[in-house]
Amino acid sequence: VISLDHVTKSFAGHDAVSNVSLSVPEGSFLVLLGPSGCGKSTMLRMLAGLEQPTSGRILYNETLVADGNAGFTLPPADRNAGLVFQSYALWPHMTVAGNIEWPLKVAKLPTEERRIRRADAMQMLGISALADRYPGEISGGQQQRVALARMIAPRPKIMLFDEPLSNLDATLRVEMRFELLKLHAATGATAVYVTHDQVEAMTMATHVAVMNNGRVEQFDAPEKLLSEPASAFVAGFVGTPA
Ligand code: ATP
Ligand code: MG
Repeated sequence: VISLDHVTKSFAGHDAVSNVSLSVPEGSFLVLLGPSGCGKSTMLRMLAGLEQPTSGRILYNETLVADGNAGFTLPPADRNAGLVFQSYALWPHMTVAGNIEWPLKVAKLPTEERRIRRADAMQMLGISALADRYPGEISGGQQQRVALARMIAPRPKIMLFDEPLSNLDATLRVEMRFELLKLHAATGATAVYVTHDQVEAMTMATHVAVMNNGRVEQFDAPEKLLSEPASAFVAGFVGTPA
């Protein structure tokens, strides 16, 4: 379970995220959907531990991971969460295998365990054949698969995605949606996925939080957003065909 309890994040007196409360069960695929600047990345960064809430609390299962009021935050490395951005941020001087093994080394896993997890992750993403290449020697789509493999290699319970497909062409973007859903199903992890693409949200989510100006306008199952939009904003944003 991921729970946000009255979470606010202010920058210089302006609320990037404003009083958000929501909760999703373990294994959910939560999509944060909304226009540019509505606060999606800020929400995700707070879930990752890269940003501290100004007020409110975030819990993973029964564990408190952040409490803005008490000034408490659990460091990113202790949250058992993996994060993938729009830019892949691979180490250019490391091979594909080296990149995927990197977080396992940081976590000080034994050599044999690292080898097993690295191989599993590469197999899941279909990139075993690329093990010895460098990021500069593979395509953008393949780089994204490497970034995904690196994220899942430590076997996180929570997978965080910030517009991971937005640099890919349309065909690849659709293909990768299914890859991500397969990954989600295979790992059983809870996913939180940021996008401004309503089709992506509708095809992938078990739960959607539609955001506008730092607020969650509606938090619901994807079908409900279409059949019972809570506001004109939601109807306009979700109802528009791509
Ligand atoms: P996009 O779709 O363009 O990525 P977003 O929904 O991810 O947008 P955020 O990046 O969360 O939006 O930003 C929300 C608001 O908070 C914006 O008004 C942004 O300018 C502001 N903001 C975000 N990070 C900071 C920061 N470090 N300092 C000051 N303001 C910030
Ligand atoms: Mg963003």
